[in-house]
Amino acid sequence: MSKSQRLTKQKTAILEILRSVDTHPTAEWIYQEARKEIPGLSLGTVYRNLNQLRDNGEILELNYGSSQSRFDGTAQNHYHFRCTQCGRIWDLPMPVMKTVENKAKVLKNFQIDGHRLEFYGTCEDCQQEGKAAI
Ligand SMILES: [Zn+2]
Ligand SMILES: [Zn+2]
Repeated sequence: MSKSQRLTKQKTAILEILRSVDTHPTAEWIYQEARKEIPGLSLGTVYRNLNQLRDNGEILELNYGSSQSRFDGTAQNHYHFRCTQCGRIWDLPMPVMKTVENKAKVLKNFQIDGHRLEFYGTCEDCQQEGKAAI
């Protein structure tokens, strides 16, 4: 196998793993999964591929400051819910509000390319754990 074939195989495997889940995993998690398919794969290679996929606009990187970045196989804008207890992230199936961009546009002379919206709170699992503890 040539070097470029090997690189394509790695990238495809990483993309498939990422798109097979809706949990917005970390690079570390993707690495553990990808290693089952590609023995000898390194975490550095996973990061490199994820960065390339992000730069190509095929995936999104969700960055939350101090905690590890999470990755999203859906590149089009969509909204998220983040659980502040367990840190997991879900997609929210609601339409993207284009009107907020128009509202923002009239405030300043900025060119607006998009927006992000994130809801946060406690997920179903963590709500139940909270109840069980009482
Ligand atoms: Zn939770
Ligand atoms: Zn998402």
